[in-house]
Amino acid sequence: MEPGAKAFPRNARKALSDPALQAALGRTTGRFLDHRAAAVAAFPEFEATRERASAIKLEALSRLDVHLSRFIEEAEKRGAVVHVAKGPVQARGIAAQIAREEGVALAVKSKSMVSEEISFNAALAEAGLEVVESDLGEFILQLAGEPPSHIIAPAVHKSRAEISELFSRRLGAPPTDSIPELVAIARRHLREKFLSAGMGVSGANFLVADTGSVVLVTNEGNGRMGTILPRVHLAVAGIEKVIPRMADLPAFLRLLPRSASGQILSSYVSILTGTRQAGDAEGPERMHILLVDCGRSAILEGKYREVLKCIRCGACLNSCPVYQSVGGHAYGWVYSGPIGAVLTPLLIGLSEAAPLPDASTLCGACAEVCPVKIPLPDFLLELRADAREQGLKTPGEIAGMKGYAGVMKRAGLLEAVERIAGVLVQFFTKGKPVEGLPHPFSGWTERRDFPAVAIRPFRKLWKARRGVRE
Ligand code: SF4
Repeated sequence: MEPGAKAFPRNARKALSDPALQAALGRTTGRFLDHRAAAVAAFPEFEATRERASAIKLEALSRLDVHLSRFIEEAEKRGAVVHVAKGPVQARGIAAQIAREEGVALAVKSKSMVSEEISFNAALAEAGLEVVESDLGEFILQLAGEPPSHIIAPAVHKSRAEISELFSRRLGAPPTDSIPELVAIARRHLREKFLSAGMGVSGANFLVADTGSVVLVTNEGNGRMGTILPRVHLAVAGIEKVIPRMADLPAFLRLLPRSASGQILSSYVSILTGTRQAGDAEGPERMHILLVDCGRSAILEGKYREVLKCIRCGACLNSCPVYQSVGGHAYGWVYSGPIGAVLTPLLIGLSEAAPLPDASTLCGACAEVCPVKIPLPDFLLELRADAREQGLKTPGEIAGMKGYAGVMKRAGLLEAVERIAGVLVQFFTKGKPVEGLPHPFSGWTERRDFPAVAIRPFRKLWKARRGVRE
């Protein structure tokens, strides 16, 4: 796949002609969706909890500066050192400086999407550090030299045969098609790294303002080991992760695992508050928290503010027919699926990601499953309008849409077009389905049926049924 969100149309075409990818995507997203549906059905308070979580996030965003200040104050009171980076260059510089000053040569890292945004691993490698991904999916992708293709299942596109071949080639492991054996190979390799790493790097699912805590929600023990065993812990988090109070956390702990994988509770919930104190059994001697802005303040000021409510559960990816068909790499940047189609243009600029808001059927499935009620389809439409205003649409697209709108706004004209289309289609197809349209409409019929055009439009049938005279 080509890097860069502009390459989405070419990447999507390539992904659609990859049957192995299609099978892997269908298997995983289908399983997540089924499990989510069962978990939601068994939790009658789901809707009320969604409302509450959305309200908490809106409250946090409406006074983000106040909650962040409180978070910084509380975290520093408990021994953490908090750094703030405006952009990716500054974030990389701070991360490299922390590693240098702490004398770290090896870091173990757990999954963090914001670290992908700032190219964290590359920055630390440039500073002479070895960074080892410790989440199983991320570990596989690091060996393969690929970015993640799903928020919670980064190696969703890899088959066990591909992983076995990769482990043989990169780690010298014997080939196997047993998943437990593949996991054991990774575990053996990583255990050594955990024990010798000077720094553990994590993301943060939530930052709690009134206690200064970093909350990690994971299904593998790597996050906990990486934040407890090494001498130094560095948490990298977007500034929008802050929630006002510890009492707000349970709502998110109920929603996140159910929405992500259909679990009632994730295997590990770690609440990390400051450095190890006298009498503590475990914890890092030094704790750094790197708060990353990278475009979030600008989003906060504008009409897309609510996108910052996202808790990165991945449910919108699983429910999206476009993501299900093309996978995450086609989107060309860190985030994929409906959240990627909205967030990427806002973070890197619409001109760099103009095809993404069009990568949606606007079916609304993403908004239905989003646990914090982000109006993703509305935002996709709004971004399409922004792209038009910024001159990012071709004259052909603009003329086509104007013509379409002109017809749809005039009932009489629509009826006339329907009548002519009905006669023409019947004449050319003799009542059979349309096999394929010529260029430039061929893309429509490549992968879907052309809707049959009735001889008598629905509105006519409806009027006739109600006895309305024409
Ligand atoms: S937009 Fe909603 S559904 Fe999608 S990842 Fe974020 S919280 Fe989950």
